[in-house]
Formats: sequence, C-alpha cells, structure tokens
Amino acid sequence: QLTPLEMPNRLLLGPGPSNAHPDVLQAMNRPPVGHLDPTFLKLMDEIQSLLRYVWQTENSMTIAVSGTGTAAMEATIANSVEPGDVVLVGVSGYFGNRLVDMAGRYGAEVRTITKPWGQVFSLEELQIALETHRPAILALVHAETSTGARQPLEGVGELCREFDCLLLVDTVTSLGGVPIFLDAWGVDLAYSCSQKGLGCPPGASPFTMSARAMEKLQQCQCKVANWYLDMTLLGKYWGQERVYHHTAPINLYYALREALRLVAEEGLANCWQRHQKNVEYLWEGLEDLGLKLHVEREFRLPTLTTVCIPEGVDGKAVARQLLNDYNIEIGGGLGELAGKVWRVGLMGFNSRKESVDPLLGALRQVLPN
Ligand code: PLP
Repeated sequence: QLTPLEMPNRLLLGPGPSNAHPDVLQAMNRPPVGHLDPTFLKLMDEIQSLLRYVWQTENSMTIAVSGTGTAAMEATIANSVEPGDVVLVGVSGYFGNRLVDMAGRYGAEVRTITKPWGQVFSLEELQIALETHRPAILALVHAETSTGARQPLEGVGELCREFDCLLLVDTVTSLGGVPIFLDAWGVDLAYSCSQKGLGCPPGASPFTMSARAMEKLQQCQCKVANWYLDMTLLGKYWGQERVYHHTAPINLYYALREALRLVAEEGLANCWQRHQKNVEYLWEGLEDLGLKLHVEREFRLPTLTTVCIPEGVDGKAVARQLLNDYNIEIGGGLGELAGKVWRVGLMGFNSRKESVDPLLGALRQVLPN
C-alpha cells in the first residue's frame, strides 16, 4: 500500500533545478483552468511580455515552450535550420556538443570552433571562424553549465550581420541571473529554462526569435521538421488566432508567470546584482577553504561555479555526504570535467546568503583539513 507522496525539502545548489520561490509554488497550486480559458489566455500574454522584459527584447515571437530547456533548444534549431545549411557551433563544453548533435539531426552541415572546456571565444576568433565557414547560423552557449564560463556576446550580432548569418544563443543558465540584452546584442534566436535563474520548477521554457529569423522561417520552402515545436503553428496559439495546438501544462505556466513577476518586482538589474554579490560571497568562502575555482574570474558565471576537486578527495563521496547528512545537493562534473569539479549553482531564489552559509558550513565539516 503506497502512502501519500512526501518528498524531502532539499537545498538545491547543483546545476539545476534550483529551489522555487515559495510564492511560485503557491501559484502552482491554483486550480487549473482550460488552455483556451480567457483567464489563461491573459496569463499567456503576461508571460510573453515578462519574457520580453527579462530577455530585453521586443521580439513578438516570444513564448514559453511546453517542455524543458532541451525542448526550447530544439525549437530554435527546428525553426531556423534548413537541410544543407552550414551551422557553426562554438563548443567549449557539454551543451555546445548537444547543439552540434541536434543541428546535425535537422540536416545541417555542422562545423565547430572549439576551445578547452572553461574558456570562451574572443570576437577575433569568432570573426575568423565566420570568414572560414560562412555559416547560415552561428550558435553559441552564453552560459556553459558544464564549465561555469560566460561567453561574452557584445559585438557578435554585428559580426553575424556582416556575414549575413543568424545568431542563436543558449541562455539556459543565464536568464534572470546574468545580464542579457538580446536586442542590443543582435541575437536572433534564444532559449532558456524555468528552473534556474527564474526560480521556478522545470517544464515551461522560454523561446524567442527575431523578425530576421522569422523571415527565414517564412521563406523556407519546407515544413518545420518538428510538428510540436513548429513556430508557424505555435504562433497561432500564442498570437491573435488562439488556435488549439496542445494542452499547455497549465499549472507550470502559473508558476512561470509568478516567477517572472517576482523578477519584475525586484527589478532585472537588481536581480543581476544580487546574483553577482552572492556568488562573490560564495567564491570568497570557497577560497577560504583552500578550494580552487576552474574558470578565470573575468569569465565566471554568477549563476554556476565550477570548483576543482582537490587531489586525494573523493568528489562523489563529498557530494553524497552533503546530500545525506546536510540535505544539500551540489552537482558533479559533466563530460571532460567528470570527476574533476563540483558544480555549485546559486540561481534565482537560491542566490542568497542563507543558501551559501549552510553549504560553506557543511564543506568545512566534510572536507579534510
Ligand atoms: N543548455 C544548457 C546550457 C543547460 O545547462 C541545460 C540544462 O541544464 C540545457 C541546455 C537543457 O535544459 P533541460 O535540462 O531543462 O532540458
């Protein structure tokens, strides 16, 4: 006989999900309405305008995809890549490789520019790669969650216009926590998630595309190869027509709307500043414990920190002990960095001193002196 569900209330300081704000969880408990109910349609409009605010974009095609960040990632690829397009991907971590795999599945001729994991591309390096490959799309990861590095994007959009290519950017670990100016930076396609900087449960993922990207989509002779994520269809649900497309995960959209409202209430610039202030407090604490950080300070993310596992320390055992004895989740390394780093996320609601202190206290106990 199963008993009613109970789950532990962990402090989630891994690469995501992070803890949702209590108000967001409350919002999720509101009774569901239909996906064409006028109150829900109004909520969708609110989500759209709040997403434009947090991304700093005027793109009319700005929506939440019903699915996790990977679904929104696939939406950007499916709606921009035509078979045979050259797609240039910047790879310096795990998620760059996921973009490579995905673009290839949509028939792209994928080229890569690579850097060691934890480093970022300079504007000069990107310019040379654009000259060499002449891609239809350049895809970059703004916040590489596998390494904790922030890819600067200033000037990249201008370069892409010079080379007549679209700029596609992964903002999964940056939205809400790291300054982003999509329009000022000339980003054409971007996606994110709900469970990190926005402090919401996973499942409703921000997506946006510029008028330039819409034009390419409209001129394409072939149908989008993914029915569920086809923006020409989804646009009719999110736009004026309100044509049924799929049954939206109603309560997740409540949560996303509330999470976005909280960011707006705090003010986007304040939210970014809070992330920066708290991560600096974390870095100081980790360094006081004798730990080294993987990424050069200038390019470190305020949302995710990669910490080098000291020689002789069993990284998995430490993470296990934090979970079992202290109720704190941190992440291990992915791909090339597996076994070499821990990943500590301070995102959304968790970007606060009250989250950092328990972790530093626990590490002080758990790590050998
Ligand atoms: N891109 C980046 C940079 C990520 O960190 C993640 C997940 O952590 C994803 C894409 C995929 O998002 P999701 O796990 O929500 O599908």
